[in-house]
This record gives sequence, structure tokens and C-alpha cells, in this order.
Amino acid sequence: MAQRKAVTLSTGTEHRARKRFGQNFLHDQHIIDRIIREVAPKKDDHLLEIGPGQGALTEQLAESGARLDLIELDRDLAEHLCKQFRDHSNVHIHQQDVLKFDLKQLIVADKPIRIIGNLPYNISTPVLFHLLKYYKNIKDMSFMLQLEVVERLSAGVGDKNYGRLSLMLQYFCEAEKLFNVPAQAFTPQPKVNSAIVRITPHLKLPVPARDVDCLKIVVRTAFNQRRKTLKNSMKTLISKEVLDALDINIRLRPENLSLTDYVKISDALSEAELGSL
Ligand code: SAM
Repeated sequence: MAQRKAVTLSTGTEHRARKRFGQNFLHDQHIIDRIIREVAPKKDDHLLEIGPGQGALTEQLAESGARLDLIELDRDLAEHLCKQFRDHSNVHIHQQDVLKFDLKQLIVADKPIRIIGNLPYNISTPVLFHLLKYYKNIKDMSFMLQLEVVERLSAGVGDKNYGRLSLMLQYFCEAEKLFNVPAQAFTPQPKVNSAIVRITPHLKLPVPARDVDCLKIVVRTAFNQRRKTLKNSMKTLISKEVLDALDINIRLRPENLSLTDYVKISDALSEAELGSL
């Protein structure tokens, strides 16, 4: 098995990057500065960094004077961060799994938080779905992700990357790719290309569904059978009569239907289910 490269923490201790925690540490100062410029943290912001690791981004976020919460799963790195930021009263460290973290506990006086993170790529999609539960409490999110995931998040109808992730993310938020990051900017280098994305929750949902869980089921069912037309993939969920009554071309494949179309199907399904109770 390939040896993971050891990195030296600012306290002088050696840390061997842990693959199971998706540890690819940013070392390119030019990229770090560019991310911070894009985030432009202000003193009266409330910031949350997910997976601060060795603090590549953390230092400058803390220097902004904003309240800064850090969620780091790796016990050794969390301990190191506690030492590194012991003199910063604005920095609060949570040694926890972000997937089990209730963001509501951080919210003060309804102020929406700004989230930043070079996310562990092995869990980036579950992290995004977890955070979407709190979209009303989030002002924006700036993430380093696998380029392919960023392309899926921002893909529009008809795009080859358009799918479940694009639809569910765009239901709650707007996603904008900011810039690409080469693998050489990390230690150890990931095997994939990366990009920075800014995700901004809608203040008001543009196409609200009657029942968002129902929408999730419709979208999942459609994209589980990508090659099938809607008419065929929806057979198990909704009757042909109900589907025909909607103003949608049901001979299209899932990648050719908009969020508005999926919400129409979902609303018809929840209405039909209510009717049968
Ligand atoms: N922010 C650092 C940087 O840019 O160099 C580290 C980024 S590294 C890609 C991902 C970080 O997320 C690691 O520090 C890792 O330990 C942490 N991490 C992994 N899984 C996590 C989880 N479930 N909850 C919180 N942090 C996690």
C-alpha cells in the first residue's frame, strides 16, 4: 500500500494524512489567498469551517475577528487546532462528525451563518445533503469539491452532468463555480481535479413543492432509470391518467425535465396520495 505523506504541523509534530478522513491538505498560498478573497470574511459574520485540518484556511478566517466555529473529526488535528487558536476568543472548536452535527446549536439570534470548507471528498455529497436541511440558517457556503461534483451542482437541464444532485441542490440554492484548483495545490495530491463553488440558499424557494420528501422520491426514481422516458420510469409511482393531465412532455428522458416539471409531478403525486387516504 502506498505510504501517505507526513506533514509537519505548525507545532512541529508530524501528522500522516489519513485517507479515511479524506485528508488532502491545501498548501498553495496563492489558492488559499484566492479562496479567502472570494469569501471576504467580515468581523460581524458568523463563520463555520468544516474540516479545518491543519488550519490552511482557518488562520485568515480567524484573523477577520468574526465568530468562527470549526468542526473537525480527527482528534489529533482538533487538539492541534485548540493549541493553535488558544489565544483567539472568537474561535470555537468542535471535535465531531459534521454529518451528526446539529447546526441549529450554533445559531445565535437567527443570524444566518457562512460556511467554508475544503471538504473531505469521500463524504462531500452526504455533507451537502445534511447542510441543505439547514438552508434557512445559512447565508452562503464556499466549498472546495471535486470538479466533477461542482459540475453536477451547477448543471442545467439537458447537460450531461444534470441529475439528482443538481435538482435537489438547485431546489434550495443557487450554485456558482468560482475557479479550478489543480491537484498540485494539495499534500498529498488527490487523483481528481478540484474546484471552488459558492452555494447561496434562496431567500424564498423559487419552485416550492407541496412535499419535498415526495419530490426527492420522484427525482430519485427518474434518475435511477436514466435511459427510460418519464412515462416508463414513473409507472411505479403515479398513474398514466394523472401524468397525462400535467402539462409535461412525458416522452422526454429525466435529464430533459426542469425543476418546475419535477415539482409538478411531485405535487400531483402527493395530491393523489392524499385523495386515496
Ligand atoms: N481544510 C484543510 C485544508 O484545506 O488543508 C483540510 C481539508 S481535508 C480535504 C478535509 C478535512 O476534513 C480533514 O481535516 C479531515 O480530518 C476532516 N474531516 C473528514 N471527515 C470529517 C467529518 N465527518 N466531520 C468533520 N471533519 C471531517
